[in-house]
Amino acid sequence: MSAEPQTAMEAAAGAVSPARNVMVVGVGGQGVLMISKALALIGQTQGLQVKQSEVHGMAKRGGVVFSHVRFGEEVWSPTIAKGEADALIALEWAEGLRWIEHLRPETGVFIADTRRIVPPFACRSRRHGAPMAYARETPAEALEKVGEGYALDATAIATGLGEPRAANTVLLGVLSISMDAPVADWLAVLDALTPQKSRAINLEAFKAGRAWAEAARDDPSLRFDAGFAERVAYADAPDVSVALDINAAWCKGCDICVKLCPERCLALDAQQVAYLKEPQACTGCRVCEWLCPDFAIAVRTTVHDARTA
Ligand code: SF4
Ligand code: SF4
Repeated sequence: MSAEPQTAMEAAAGAVSPARNVMVVGVGGQGVLMISKALALIGQTQGLQVKQSEVHGMAKRGGVVFSHVRFGEEVWSPTIAKGEADALIALEWAEGLRWIEHLRPETGVFIADTRRIVPPFACRSRRHGAPMAYARETPAEALEKVGEGYALDATAIATGLGEPRAANTVLLGVLSISMDAPVADWLAVLDALTPQKSRAINLEAFKAGRAWAEAARDDPSLRFDAGFAERVAYADAPDVSVALDINAAWCKGCDICVKLCPERCLALDAQQVAYLKEPQACTGCRVCEWLCPDFAIAVRTTVHDARTA
């Protein structure tokens, strides 16, 4: 991502170097905007013009968020056209795949956290193990499409440091090896942008991401998240059990849960108290828990393996 003239004509004429374009994408709550602010500040510390634009989804997880950051000697437009991003940072795997074609085909740098945040509407069936309408592409397949790619479990790195929410800063550290700014400038920007309580962890996350990227740059076999396939396979067939606690003293036998359970697995017993008649059919959807007017039902879901996708 060094600022080279794009054409021989520009070079000969000493024309202004083209702007550098970075896209940051993810879903609400992941810290997309913090990353784009850090990039904007880095551009300013280098004495460049900076333009930034963003689209916010829902504040909660699930809403798509993306940001365009452009910096250079002269920047006129705040948005990046398809095929013109020099780098794409994706804080969520499917969002990375969604925007991958915005990268420059030969030279674009793809940096993505391989963790998946599967939206509720991706579940096409309520039964356990039902296939989800979610991108199936693996890191290896995605990296074949880009000039240079890094697909890492940034969330795991951040979790190892004690704060999964610092995954965005891990990815910023990865990007930093593709840019000209000195490490001290990055650290100063993070120092200025992060609240005091999370400052130390963000600085560590940045360094961890940068160290990972330096190793991966020297050894392409490290650029893939080796645990991806196993996590996805597990997510598609989770080892989860569901149990219902029905408080007989609170149940007034109104029949609401029985009628509205999507799997029809509840019934009223002889005392007009709800009970789980067909436990094997219960998916743990919690509809009964939400609808019971007397708070008589509590759904307990036990995950037998802590892996998440
Ligand atoms: S959680 Fe409740 S509503 Fe959902 S399937 Fe089980 S019994 Fe039915
Ligand atoms: S909705 Fe609640 S009160 Fe009504 S039958 Fe079910 S458990 Fe009992």
